[in-house]
Amino acid sequence: MQVHVVGAGIAGLAAAIRLAIRGHQVCLFDSQERPGGKMSQIQKAGYRFDTGPSLFTMPQYVDALFEAAGKDPRDYYRYERLDEICRYFWNDGTELRAKGDSESFALEVERVLGVPSKRTKKILAQARHKYEVTGRIFLEKPLNRWSTWFSRETLMAVLQIPTLSLFSSMHQVNRRSSKNARLTQLLDRFATYNGSDPYRAPGMLTMIPHFEHGIGAFYPEGGIYSIAQALHRLALDLGVEMRLSTQVDEILHDEHRAQGVRVGEEVIPADVVICNMDIHFAYRQLLPRLKKPERILRRERSSSAIIFYWGVGESLPELELHNIFFAEDYAAEFQALSEGRLHEDPTVYVNRTSSKTPADAPEGKSNLFVMINAPSGTDRDWEQLVADSRKRILAKLSDALGRELAPLLEVEEVLDPRGIESKMHSFAGALYGSSSNSSFAAFFRHANQSRQLSDLYFCGGSVHPGGGIPLALLSAALVDRLIAQEQ
Ligand SMILES: Cc1cc2nc3c(=O)[nH]c(=O)nc-3n(C[C@H](O)[C@H](O)[C@H](O)COP(=O)(O)OP(=O)(O)OC[C@H]3O[C@@H](n4cnc5c(N)ncnc54)[C@H](O)[C@@H]3O)c2cc1C
Repeated sequence: MQVHVVGAGIAGLAAAIRLAIRGHQVCLFDSQERPGGKMSQIQKAGYRFDTGPSLFTMPQYVDALFEAAGKDPRDYYRYERLDEICRYFWNDGTELRAKGDSESFALEVERVLGVPSKRTKKILAQARHKYEVTGRIFLEKPLNRWSTWFSRETLMAVLQIPTLSLFSSMHQVNRRSSKNARLTQLLDRFATYNGSDPYRAPGMLTMIPHFEHGIGAFYPEGGIYSIAQALHRLALDLGVEMRLSTQVDEILHDEHRAQGVRVGEEVIPADVVICNMDIHFAYRQLLPRLKKPERILRRERSSSAIIFYWGVGESLPELELHNIFFAEDYAAEFQALSEGRLHEDPTVYVNRTSSKTPADAPEGKSNLFVMINAPSGTDRDWEQLVADSRKRILAKLSDALGRELAPLLEVEEVLDPRGIESKMHSFAGALYGSSSNSSFAAFFRHANQSRQLSDLYFCGGSVHPGGGIPLALLSAALVDRLIAQEQ
């Protein structure tokens, strides 16, 4: 079959690879000049920055693509498991170094926060239990198929409902299980993994720490962008035709099935079309004649962010690869975000890849990716909000590091929700598609297959099972399986 994939984000690349492995002719279109979508990079004055994702979990989903193609993933990219996953800082100078293995993490939590290690280990065991009971159903299967609901796994999950925290918020579960305000805050922050609010997100998401502390957090040699480069190489090796710098203007179809794409005046027929574009823009721009699934498109978006890419003229060894400087009042921060405002004392995430890849900054200097949560939506005074945030972040980091950062800045680039929408093609600047702030969010994500047209499929962070590298990759695997079943 001739398969067209619209969008070479991580899911589009993965879908193209999977379909090429099955022996189909695959053509991958992207409007940008390089593949990877949100997974991109900036190079400036000797500094390199990953622009989008910075945390790499579940590398097995990337490796699986190479293995399915009969290749050794290590011939394409390499990664290490992080010994120290994240360094947490509070305003009063408290610092906690979160180790990857749960035993050391629990001991560090006991040493710094005074929470008995047994309690932390129990929390991580509960996270693992929730993942094992529900993970495969909600992440690895299509939710619009009866076979998903009438399976042994689903029956087992139903029997486990009392243990899944379905009727409490993440924050309520974390507060009850940790009995410690700072450990609660640390556990609550895992809601931001998919752009949610811990005070509203369902308690079932307390499974997320298992991804880091059970399965592990990883660092790809050369930074996250090396994953996109590796997948690009694999796609080319498998004979995928790459049409970069090529914007698709329409997905062509008759009343029943997708028939190809239109690029400007050029009509390019296909047997199957896979759309990796944000679902919102896909319906509004590429499928103008189809009925819009408004209930899905109107769902609340995930949070967005303001990001500063700073080249700093010092090595800053007190910073690890991942660092979080917490807000004093987390509840007030999320309250502000839910009202479309920014809190005056924001939680600041700092990623410093030069701690792992010294070539990412000139010698003795460091490359900082500095991010705060922001409400999605482009219709605010972002000029002013960015200027205010810059001042607050510089003050907070300078305080924590004990020296003024502003005079050390050599390079600066900024991204806010407007740029995330226009440059990264993400509706309202949302980082992860629709939000997971309700217990039913999973059921309101767009399915991986069109209900209206046969031969039209959807993958990527704005459709089932959701945003983030691992889930985007799973969406491509689901599309591949659905197409194979239809043949
Ligand atoms: C700032 C930020 C931080 C993040 N942090 C993390 C993290 O730490 N860990 C993590 O796992 N995830 C993170 N994410 C989320 C993760 O990056 C995304 O979920 C994932 O990359 C989405 O991939 P995707 O396949 O949906 O495609 P996207 O990356 O959205 O790519 C879609 C592609 O479609 C192309 N396109 C759009 N319209 C057209 C058209 N008409 N014609 C042709 N091409 C088109 C675009 O150019 C783009 O290349 C982050 C995201 C952002 C923005």
